[in-house]
Amino acid sequence: MSRHRAPSPVTRRGALVAGAAWVVGAAAASSGLTGRWSTGTAPTALPSEALAAAQVPSAPASPAAPSPSPSSAPPSVAEVETTAAFDRTAHSTTEASSPWVVVNKRHPIDPLDYEPPKLVAVAGERVAAQAAPDLEALLARSRDDGVALTLVSGFRTYSYQQQVHRRSVARNGQAGADRYSARAGHSEHQTGLAVDFSSADGRATLSPRFAQTDEGLWLAEHAGSHGWLLRYTEADQAVTGYNAEPWHFRWVGVELVAAMVAAGAPTLEQFFGTSGGPDYA
Ligand SMILES: [Zn+2]
Repeated sequence: MSRHRAPSPVTRRGALVAGAAWVVGAAAASSGLTGRWSTGTAPTALPSEALAAAQVPSAPASPAAPSPSPSSAPPSVAEVETTAAFDRTAHSTTEASSPWVVVNKRHPIDPLDYEPPKLVAVAGERVAAQAAPDLEALLARSRDDGVALTLVSGFRTYSYQQQVHRRSVARNGQAGADRYSARAGHSEHQTGLAVDFSSADGRATLSPRFAQTDEGLWLAEHAGSHGWLLRYTEADQAVTGYNAEPWHFRWVGVELVAAMVAAGAPTLEQFFGTSGGPDYA
C-alpha cells in the first residue's frame, strides 16, 4: 500500500513555491540558477494599485501569514534577468477567454453572460478546453500519489451563478454572501478556468477544514506545478475580496505560476497591478 502521507503543513507562499519548484528548476537548468525558492524570497514591491486595493478601509486587517525568513541577499543578475524576461503582456488580463484574465469584484467578466467557446468534461465537471490537459495531469498525478481528489464544481453559467449567489444571500445576508460567493458575472467559474476540489469521502467539501485534509495539503503542494493557482487565501483576503477557499483553484498555466513565484506576488491582482478588494465596482 502506498497510501499518501500528508506532508507537514506548509505556508501558502511555501506551498506555491513548492508547487512551482519543478518549473523554476527546469528554467534554472539552463541559467545556472538552483535552489533559489527553497530558501524563501522577500516579496518585491507591489504595484501601487494593488497596494491601494489591499488598504481598502473596510477590509479586515489581513493577518500576516507565517513565511520563510526572507533572504537578505540582493537578487543576482540571473534572478533579475529571469524575472525581466517574462512578458506580462503576452496574454490579455481583460478578455474573458484569456488564460490570464483577472476576474474579481472590480473586474466583471466581459460580456457578463460570457461562456467559453469550447468546454470539455473532466471528472464529471466542464472546464474550458485550454485548462483541461493540466487538470487531467493533476488528477492523474494525485491518483499516483494515492490522493482521492474529486471535482465538485467547474464551469458555471451566468444564470447558475445567479442562483448560487441568491441562495447564499438568503442564508447569509448580502454582506455575508459577498464574502463567500461571487455575484453573477464576477465568478472565475464562469470563465471555465476555475474548479472546486474535494475528497472522495466528501468530509470537508467546501469547508475551511479541506485545507488540512490529505487532499487539501497535497493540492497546496502540487497544484502549481500543473498550472493551477490557489486563488483565495486568508493572507490575501484584502486583495482578492474573498474569505479563504482552500478548495478553489484557478488555471493560469505553469509559466505564470512560476513567474508569480519569481516576482513574490501571491495573487493575480498583485502580479498584474490590477485592482481588487472586497467592494464591487
Ligand atoms: Zn470555486
